[in-house]
Amino acid sequence: MENGIRVRFAPSPTGYLHVGSLRTALYNYLYARKTGGKFILRIEDTDQSRYIEGAVDNLIRTLKRVDLDYDEGPEKAGEFGPYYQSQRTAIYSRYADELIEKGAAYRCFCTAGDLQKMRERQLAENKDTRYDGRCRNLTEEEINKKLANGDPYVIRLQVPTAGEIIFYDLVRDKVTFPWEMVDDQILIKSDGFPTYHLANVVDDHLMQITHVIRGEEWLSSIPKHLFMYEMLGWKPPKMAHLPLILNPDKSKLSKRQGDVAVEDFLNKGFMPETLLNFIALLGWHAKGDRELFSLKELETEFSLKRISKSGAVFDQEKLKWMNGHYLKHLALEKIADRARKYFLEAEYDISDTEKYEKVISFARERVSLLSEIPEQAEMFYREISFNAEDLDMIGQENSQKIFRFWIMELENKDSWNEQEINDLIKKTSAELEIKGKALYFPLRIALFGSGHGPEIWTLYDILGKEEVLKRLKKLV
Ligand code: GLU
Repeated sequence: MENGIRVRFAPSPTGYLHVGSLRTALYNYLYARKTGGKFILRIEDTDQSRYIEGAVDNLIRTLKRVDLDYDEGPEKAGEFGPYYQSQRTAIYSRYADELIEKGAAYRCFCTAGDLQKMRERQLAENKDTRYDGRCRNLTEEEINKKLANGDPYVIRLQVPTAGEIIFYDLVRDKVTFPWEMVDDQILIKSDGFPTYHLANVVDDHLMQITHVIRGEEWLSSIPKHLFMYEMLGWKPPKMAHLPLILNPDKSKLSKRQGDVAVEDFLNKGFMPETLLNFIALLGWHAKGDRELFSLKELETEFSLKRISKSGAVFDQEKLKWMNGHYLKHLALEKIADRARKYFLEAEYDISDTEKYEKVISFARERVSLLSEIPEQAEMFYREISFNAEDLDMIGQENSQKIFRFWIMELENKDSWNEQEINDLIKKTSAELEIKGKALYFPLRIALFGSGHGPEIWTLYDILGKEEVLKRLKKLV
């Protein structure tokens, strides 16, 4: 049965979603959407020693927060499940046994002590430290005796020891590995659980994965994987290994140098649209210089051909710039909705929705993070505290004249539109013979707490007549 393109994101849950993993998920998602294929989420959780409570929930929740929807996987129907490897362990041993029968794997009874000694000797002899393959040579009789004895064992892959393997990666083209660099990988551990390598290959085959798109750190596993495919008589998927993500100093992006968890970025006030757009460009570029893409646009623009081989620098400044762009350009209601929690945290009373939206519309032009919005809104929700210089300006004769004139005029009429406020400014100037800075500064200080700032109309519009009057009256 020909199923079309099937790709997967196969994380081992670590408790948080790394930005590099989000890129892997995104590229797989985009490739599936672009080609009309299927995007599968498979949880690689066979390593019981790394089990972290709540890690899978967190992972799924984060994918949802950034809107990356998968077609098959946990919590979804799909004919290739279960999608948790921990629920598939029985499947893997069958294939390990098949590899043993075919002479492509063997039981290894070496104890931790044996391995330790082997390592020490190799170090003393200045050799690479790796399993030396001694259990390859056990006779059938020896094996049966150890089995009858109940000796614990692991199952190892028996890779070729000479020659080289050549394969083609969609990103890196031709790749060559000498077999002597490849070790006899453990496939099944002594507790009976499979390692990543076996489970990954078996599942990619059984789930009919056509393209494996993942980080470059897995490239060196390919010889072992291809060997397994060959020995099991399976056709391997096509491979695309994504370049490393680097800090500006070209070191590998790591937790030590700052945030790497997608959740941290979201909680700080970066938005899903920004993260997806930014991360899409970490190792991929569109035709031309275009940098701004919605997810929908990426779905049509994306192509594996334009993934680059060289490392991609994670530039925080660019990320901020991009977030600023989306803050200004996404629908106002969306921003208002997302910023709400930060206002509530700051304990601003945002029950007046009309005012709140006006504040958002003002503040979003001035920030690059959602979380910075309340800071830009403080003067609309809190009483202004004036510094000495402001107080001096407020106390001046001219300022007092302006305030009194405005109080008188404003009280004459219920509501004022933009034109009327601008006319009032002209009238004030004409009647009081005060103009320019001497006119605007006192008004802005009174209403906004700073001589520099938005148009007087904007302030009036956000605060409303009552609040403007209240603020002016307090100063005369
Ligand atoms: N479980 C591996 C990881 O955590 C998956 C690697 C792969 O995609 O094959 O990254």
